[in-house]
Amino acid sequence: MTPQYTIALAGNPNAGKTTLFNRLTGARQHVGNYPGVTVEKKEGLYQVDETTQANIVDLPGTYSLTAYSVEEVVARDYLIHEMPPAVINITDAANLERHLYLASQFMELGVPIVIALNMIDVARDRGITIDAKKLAELLTVPVIPISARSGEGVPELMLAAVKVAREQKVWQPLVLSYGDDIDEALLEMEALIRAGSFLADLYPPRWLALKYLEKDEQIISKGETTAAKTGAVELHQQLLTRTQWVSDHLMATMETYPEAMVADHRYGYIKSILRQGVISRVYDENRIYTSDRIDRVLTNRILGPLIMLLVLLGLYHFTFTYSELPVTWLGNFFDWLSGTVNHLFPDGPLKSLITSGIIAGVGGVLGFVPIIMFMFFGIAILEDSGYLARVAFMMDRIFRIFGLHGSSVMAYIISGGIAGGCAVPGVMATRTLRSPRERMATLLTAPFMNCGAKLPVLALLIGTFFTRNQAGFMFMLTLLSWIVALVVAKFLRLTVLKGEATPFVMELPPYRLPTFRGLAIHTWEKTWQYIRKAGTVILGASILLWASMTFPGLPQADRDVFEAQRQVIKSGQLIAIDQQKRLAVVDGAEAEQALLNSLAGRLGSGLESVSRLAGFDWRTNIALVGGFAAKEIIISTLGTAYSLGDVDPNSDDSLAQTLGASPNWDQVKALALILFIMFYSPCFVTVACIIREAGSWRWGVFSMIFNTTFAFLLATIVYQAGKGLGLTG
Ligand code: GDP
Ligand code: MG
Repeated sequence: MTPQYTIALAGNPNAGKTTLFNRLTGARQHVGNYPGVTVEKKEGLYQVDETTQANIVDLPGTYSLTAYSVEEVVARDYLIHEMPPAVINITDAANLERHLYLASQFMELGVPIVIALNMIDVARDRGITIDAKKLAELLTVPVIPISARSGEGVPELMLAAVKVAREQKVWQPLVLSYGDDIDEALLEMEALIRAGSFLADLYPPRWLALKYLEKDEQIISKGETTAAKTGAVELHQQLLTRTQWVSDHLMATMETYPEAMVADHRYGYIKSILRQGVISRVYDENRIYTSDRIDRVLTNRILGPLIMLLVLLGLYHFTFTYSELPVTWLGNFFDWLSGTVNHLFPDGPLKSLITSGIIAGVGGVLGFVPIIMFMFFGIAILEDSGYLARVAFMMDRIFRIFGLHGSSVMAYIISGGIAGGCAVPGVMATRTLRSPRERMATLLTAPFMNCGAKLPVLALLIGTFFTRNQAGFMFMLTLLSWIVALVVAKFLRLTVLKGEATPFVMELPPYRLPTFRGLAIHTWEKTWQYIRKAGTVILGASILLWASMTFPGLPQADRDVFEAQRQVIKSGQLIAIDQQKRLAVVDGAEAEQALLNSLAGRLGSGLESVSRLAGFDWRTNIALVGGFAAKEIIISTLGTAYSLGDVDPNSDDSLAQTLGASPNWDQVKALALILFIMFYSPCFVTVACIIREAGSWRWGVFSMIFNTTFAFLLATIVYQAGKGLGLTG
């Protein structure tokens, strides 16, 4: 049996398309890709009656049909090229006004739609009632309330959709008014398009004119190529000229853009319909009303940002104060473990592998688990309570200035914007951004945030060199990461990613009191991600690094020289303590020679002539190269470099003590290193993600080179300034 017709499911992201799709098609699904893009294409079969099947297509979620994002282009192209006989537009009944914005655009294109008022259960809970019959009359399309989750109303919906599909209606575009200026221009442009039968096989003429006015890049570039091919260059030029005129005119008279004007009128159309007794709502005192009241304070223009700063600062104090004790315990535990192994095993490569490779590496990373747990617990409170969405809302005004979008905030926060996070999910979170350029600018700058992996490295350096006000210092670094990310984003948006901004559409969920269970689960999930990474990637990397720091080792001749020195000391007339001290010096010198001679040492010292400009010696270089594998490795590598090449290899001193006591380290050098670590190349997992999300390896390479160069310049400036002021050697 071959399917008789296709029914497409379309709607805003999270409207419930997939839930409905699964309900309709069950296991009869097929997942593929749309040609040339990474957008998923899901198809499945729906049994209409005994003899009829329909092909159901789950279109990507979109907010509009203007080419702001890949999803929007894909969904639109599908509709235009395949012309499905029926499209089910799934809307969220609890947020109808916003969701009908897309419906109005389907209707402008003439797509035969059936509107599903999904999540009717949620709407009911919130005291919202919708007169579906009245809405259907006013919109002149079928409207069916459903709950995709429970299945309520779904049979009725499918009956209506099948009916529309069987009717094989001719597409009948809805004509809206967008105000005098635009209407007039549309009429003229439509006449021109009709006269030249320009792209007439694909688009309704008025719709095409509208897309020119909305400055839809995909359509305009298609117009350009078609014009070149069909000799309609003059027509295309006339359309652009008219568009420019309307644009200038609107700017001069109303200080607005045509696309904003068009959007306003679409909303106006929807509002006017909904006002006619379609929606009535009873306020649920406890939920919505309370939320509104809380928002009056928390998102207040003046109080809001102040409270936000206090909340974020509070998060730091909470994290750093309460995690101090468990961090110390864990540190002691690993020191003890390392000491025990030291006594149990004979000297040699195996002992070196276990203490310097495994225990130092993984221990260094796990030692910071408490910090990360407290941090995630704090973030989970903000997220679960609904406050985090308010942060995005308040940030939109600022982000706009830098060519980004309020939703960019989420990507930044997930990447570690409040400290502790990961750029990998952060880069993936940019999928919610509509404009490709805002999205690229966000995903390229998100790795500047202080992710959970950089955090322990920063904490170590701060804890060693800037002991006076650690929380305050960390807070300043976080502010700095935002400033740098925003400034770089602005730079990108003015250069390689030039283009206009898109409007803010994001829902503010009602405030909820977080449950302890929810908080515990969220905290554990994120902490576990971190531990798992420590157990696999970091363990592997730290063993590889250990090997590259141990082999090939010193040539026999050199070892003989050190051995001879030892013999001289042993045969001399020294008291035991002095003898031991001098032997230790020789041991240290030998270990350092061996490390310098190792693979990693050669690379590190090879880079030293350049890195000296920023105050980095070869040990730091080795650690930074290792940091590309995963930022946590910076600590473990420094640990390994220092415990292997230390004056006293058997000392129980922690890395912090070793660095603090070393004459080669001071505050200026530490600060230069902190800045470099914050901003240099993302780790390789993030780079791989950037490549996948951006759809080109060029952006991955770009982020590695650009970020590293930028970070190096910054570190060099700080170090050289410190040197000029005589603050460092
Ligand atoms: P899509 O992005 O449009 O594919 O949306 P999904 O199908 O993934 O649904 C988004 C979320 O809404 C999921 O958590 C669903 O479980 C939930 N959801 C979908 N339909 C309903 C519904 O009718 N009632 C309720 N309460 N939740 C729903
Ligand atoms: Mg989905």
